Amino acid sequence: MKKLIIDLDDTITEKGFIRMVNEFLEADYEQEDSGTYYVNDLIPNERMDEWVKFFEDRNVYDYANIIEGAKETIKKLTEKYDVYIATSFVFRDKPEISGKIAYDKFNFIIKEFPFLNMRNIIMINNKDMLEADIRVDDSMKKLKGDAELKLLFTAYHNKNISDDELSKEGITRVNTWNEIEKILL
Ligand SMILES: [Mg+2]
Repeated sequence: MKKLIIDLDDTITEKGFIRMVNEFLEADYEQEDSGTYYVNDLIPNERMDEWVKFFEDRNVYDYANIIEGAKETIKKLTEKYDVYIATSFVFRDKPEISGKIAYDKFNFIIKEFPFLNMRNIIMINNKDMLEADIRVDDSMKKLKGDAELKLLFTAYHNKNISDDELSKEGITRVNTWNEIEKILL
């Protein structure tokens, strides 16, 4: 079976971070408002320590939702592909607490995707170290590395990347899990 590597945050789940940031700041920001990949850039510097503590006491997956169709499609994909979920876990604002994030990610994945082989859950930051036939990710940077097919999942931070730029990198944009299903199944 072909090896298919799927990202977690903003590919399978969405909006966990922004909902946490909004609760912390008592604000009503949209993800796009940060202007970057990191919605935590909305946190003022002087509140960073307080934010880290807030984050550490909570589980971002209690705030996130699963993107429509992801669960159903991934279940079908496991019948045809060797499916892996590969996800970064080092928390930029305080790397020392990343162990907890890995723990929360693992528990979330096995709870929501019980049909997945637990041994196919990979915590990694440099995904280009992984061999894959197909990659699905919302980050262009993380689609580096060989693969016969690379799918960029549309997210708030990648909407402005042109099709030209994508095709230069051999990447195809997908907007929904339904589109992924049409391509891969
Ligand atoms: Mg992601």
